[in-house]
Amino acid sequence: MQIEQGPIRPPSEASSLLIRVTRNCPWNKCTFCITYKGEQFSRRPVEDVQRDIDSIARVVKQVRQISLNNGLDGRVNGKVVNEAGSRYGYLHYHVAQWLYYGGKNVFLQDANSLVLKTSELVQIIQYLRIILPSVERVTMYARANTVTRKSTGELQELREAGLDRIHMGMESGSDIVLKKILKGITANQLIEAAQKIKASGISLCWYIMPGLGGREHTREHSLETAAVINQGNPEYMRFRTLSVLKNTPLYDMMASGAFTPLDEDEVVTEQRLLLESLKGATTTVVSDHMRNLLQELQGTLPGDQNKLLGIIDHYLGMTPQEKANFQLGRRAGVYVTMHDMQDPSKSLYVEKLLNNINSPEQLKTVLAKLRSQ
Ligand code: SF4
Repeated sequence: MQIEQGPIRPPSEASSLLIRVTRNCPWNKCTFCITYKGEQFSRRPVEDVQRDIDSIARVVKQVRQISLNNGLDGRVNGKVVNEAGSRYGYLHYHVAQWLYYGGKNVFLQDANSLVLKTSELVQIIQYLRIILPSVERVTMYARANTVTRKSTGELQELREAGLDRIHMGMESGSDIVLKKILKGITANQLIEAAQKIKASGISLCWYIMPGLGGREHTREHSLETAAVINQGNPEYMRFRTLSVLKNTPLYDMMASGAFTPLDEDEVVTEQRLLLESLKGATTTVVSDHMRNLLQELQGTLPGDQNKLLGIIDHYLGMTPQEKANFQLGRRAGVYVTMHDMQDPSKSLYVEKLLNNINSPEQLKTVLAKLRSQ
């Protein structure tokens, strides 16, 4: 048994069931993005998606049977997940793992499935919630200009059908930066989209990309992104730090000198300016992407603003040697947060790695390489 799935989902949907309703990205022009390069966008017919949902329901029954055979009353533990995967393959493993995490969350792939007719999406979401009754949360990615083309009434229909959250790659609130990276949206469209989504009762999560303005536009990037967040006031904003990947137009711009990437400290300084410029937003700030240096940046505004700035100041106040140790340990996967540096077995290990690096320039190259992996 097989279903169709796309390549990515947001970090917060790591334990979600993935259901593909469109293929690839209908825009596919952002200069930093490689995910769907060379792939054609297409819409999946509603019947095909429904057939996938039916297949998932059959797999759910098989996984529950494995659980019963193990005397677990239908509960799914690690043993059931492994047995489902080894006996039947990837789909059973994915569904069993989803059940292991409660079988509650579903993410509709790919990059902008809101381009489907509202009636089709409503049909899919309603069907999904009937066939898989354990589902409590349904989310998807959408582009701001697609949202602005829908009426608030259409978004309300989707909310009533059971769409709970829209994840949106905002990247920047600066029109200069948005234009430079060919995002195809404006700051005003972002604000309008946020207002419509919130009026419909759907939750909104914006993804911000520190570093995206380069040295050329770091200040506008921070200040204007903060201004858009202040007006859009999404429920969540998540940092997803830029990494300039090979085979992207941004990489070519970097090679030609038209884009100068920020180093680790400059990115954190940019984040600080953004966070200190947030006024009036009640957003929850999350830093759960592996490319972020400071994963501990987590809190809800306005109450946690000083706590978030304090985390950044703690980092910026480290000695150059401590910073080098943390940056390398973080990028090499030894540390998750700055707190991990207090573990001598970890910090001494990173110190040994650092001894093999001969200069600050070499460290920058190593960090950039690790960050792009
Ligand atoms: S809209 Fe998203 S998926 Fe599409 S090219 Fe831009 S960043 Fe990539």
